[in-house]
Parts: sequence; structure tokens; C-alpha cells
Amino acid sequence: MSSRVRRRDAIRAAVASALLPAASLPFAAARAAAPLKGPLRPQAYRFRLGTFELTALFDGMVAMDGPHPIFGADQSPQAVARLCEENFLPTGRLAIGFAPILVNTGRQLVLFDAGNPASRREAGAGFLVDALSVAGYRPEEIDLVALTHYHPDHIGGLVTDGQPTFPNAVYASSAVEHAFWSAEERLSGPSEATARLVRTNVLPLADRLRLLQDGEELVPGIRALATPGHTPGHMAFHVESEGHRLLIWGDVANHFVLSVERPEWHVRFDRDKVQAAATRKRVFDMVATDRIPVAGYHMPFPNLGYVERRGGDYRWVRASYQFDV
Ligand SMILES: [Zn+2]
Repeated sequence: MSSRVRRRDAIRAAVASALLPAASLPFAAARAAAPLKGPLRPQAYRFRLGTFELTALFDGMVAMDGPHPIFGADQSPQAVARLCEENFLPTGRLAIGFAPILVNTGRQLVLFDAGNPASRREAGAGFLVDALSVAGYRPEEIDLVALTHYHPDHIGGLVTDGQPTFPNAVYASSAVEHAFWSAEERLSGPSEATARLVRTNVLPLADRLRLLQDGEELVPGIRALATPGHTPGHMAFHVESEGHRLLIWGDVANHFVLSVERPEWHVRFDRDKVQAAATRKRVFDMVATDRIPVAGYHMPFPNLGYVERRGGDYRWVRASYQFDV
């Protein structure tokens, strides 16, 4: 018997003996059993960045089999499992969260990405408007919706019951991304489902859509940054107010351990796997060197943190109270 198993048995025995007397207490059965309420997760987290106010919004979370081969498709299952175990993560199941972020610049409410379509609610995502409500905003108040890219988990929430979810908003996205997904040839093969969603959710907004180039200013203090690979026109957004900076990196990295600690590993969601890896390393180098906090769409909620360089490797450091003091 290994020492680990012995230790585990000892803990179980201690717990069991500690519980025994409770059953004999006179009031143990006096109250009706409380119904289980199901999981409860934080839906919004608001903080200051200079004169800007930012709110991370939880659209939901979807569990699936993985992480291999979704992450580390070019690696052995054992190598992926080992990294998971080292980080206290399960090896057979994976949960991916989704977190748009709202920036109040003092002049405008700017929403970055729009969450999943309502059709994914049963799976656990598509609750951005609920999170907005928890945070005290109505969809009509959103002035501008900026999109990092056109995948369904980012554009799905643009439309609700055939109508724009944010009726008073204008929109911004990458010119490269828009041209890529608008092309006729995307309507067949593996890109078909996403291209069809782009047709229902993005193209009808064209007269309210501004197309951005690399480095272009979205609004004062916020600049677009081309970060291709995940999709051809993927963009991050650099936010700066009174010298305080933050990078909204969208899907530059899709997993806080597997993508950050092994940026070169292939990820199924990346259209150009080599370019996506190069972009990850370039962005990690930038935010680690300049110690810029990051809002990552798929990082654990509240989806804020830092990238620490350790030798030649990187590590995700979750934010704690940095924005609260
Ligand atoms: Zn995504």
C-alpha cells in the first residue's frame, strides 16, 4: 500500500468517526432536508482601471471530454494528462468558461465580445444578458460592441429571437476577420456552421459595423492589436487609462494552464496552429515583460490575471485583490 493511499484511508477514517456522534444527536432529524440548489458561480466582477470602470461578465461554462486531444493534439495523451495532474486538473473532463468584458470609459459603454447563442443554454452558456443585469446594466445601454473574432462563442449573443440583443449599439471588428468569414467559400467544409452564424448574426449589422486595422484606436484609450492564428483576423484590445493598462486578449490563449505553460502545443480551435503558437509567445512576452494584467475570454472567472515568465516558460497567475486596493 502506498503512503498516499494509507494517508487517504486515515483521513477517511477520521472523517467517518467524527461524523458518527452527529447521527445520535436529538435534533439531527428534526428539520426537513434542504433541497439541493445546484451550482452557484459569480456572474460579474467590477473594478477600476484609471478612470475607466471594467466589469467582467460570466456568460457561462460548458463541460466536455478532454483536454486531449482538444489541447495538445500533437502531443501524447500521457503528456497532456501529466500536465493536468501537476496542476490539480482532471484528465478526462474539461470545462471551458466564457467571459465578455464591459468597459465604461466615462463616455461610452463598450462591450468586448457577445457570448454564446441562447441555443447553448442547456449546455451551460449563453447567459451574458443575465450577467449584465446582475451588474446593473440593460442591453439598451450598450453603445459599442467590439468583437475579437467571429467564433460562435463570441458572436452568438449578438442576436436574440431574430433581433439585435443590443438595440442601440454600433459595432467594431477586424477588417481581415470580416473579409475572411464573409467569403463565399467559407460556406462549405469545416467552416460552414460558423460562416452561417456570421450571416445571421454579423452581416445584418454591416451598416453599423466599423472595420478595424491593426493598431487602430477603437475609442480614446483602447487600441486594436492584430493577434492572428486562432482565426485569421483575431484581434486583442489594449486598454489604457491614466497609465494603468490591461490587455483584453480574446482567444490568444484558450486554457490557463495548457495554452499558457505550453504555448506551442496545437489547439483544435486554432485555425492556423503554428501562427497561433507564435502569437501566444509574442503576446506572453509582451504582457510578462511589461507586467500588464490580462482579461482572457476563456481564463477562469473572474477572468483576470498575469503571465509570469519562469526561465523560458510561462505561467498564468490569477488576479486576487490587485484591482481592489
Ligand atoms: Zn472563444
